[in-house]
Amino acid sequence: MIKVPEKQLTEIREHGVRDYPYECCGLLLGRFTGDGKVVHETYPISNAREESAKRNRFLITPEELMKGERYARSRELEVVGFYHSHPDSPAVPSKYDLDHAWPTYSYIIVSTSEGESSDLFSWEQETDRSRFNEERIECQ
Ligand SMILES: [Zn+2]
Repeated sequence: MIKVPEKQLTEIREHGVRDYPYECCGLLLGRFTGDGKVVHETYPISNAREESAKRNRFLITPEELMKGERYARSRELEVVGFYHSHPDSPAVPSKYDLDHAWPTYSYIIVSTSEGESSDLFSWEQETDRSRFNEERIECQ
């Protein structure tokens, strides 16, 4: 279960719409709790990129992740997951997403089209990395 405040859900949707037709991506900063995670802030990554890099698929470089982790620590938060958008396709993880994910983290995916967003789901990878399971989002 992941708790996400309305404000952060809106930020993810707006980021996705802004980056359309490209995929947006960013970090979910918060805390791990006994039964899941709580998100306190989003940390957008893709909109700080060069135009050419935006054409690439969703991928966060180690440098970007380290910068995000440093920022999170400065706020006494942790990286609890990642978010990205699927322009003109469903909010379910692709094979590429499965191959580039790690267990424990949450992966929020939002489906976007011209000027709007629709489905938004959170996914958690099975510990053997074989598949994703949908994770319940509790909106605060
Ligand atoms: Zn994806």
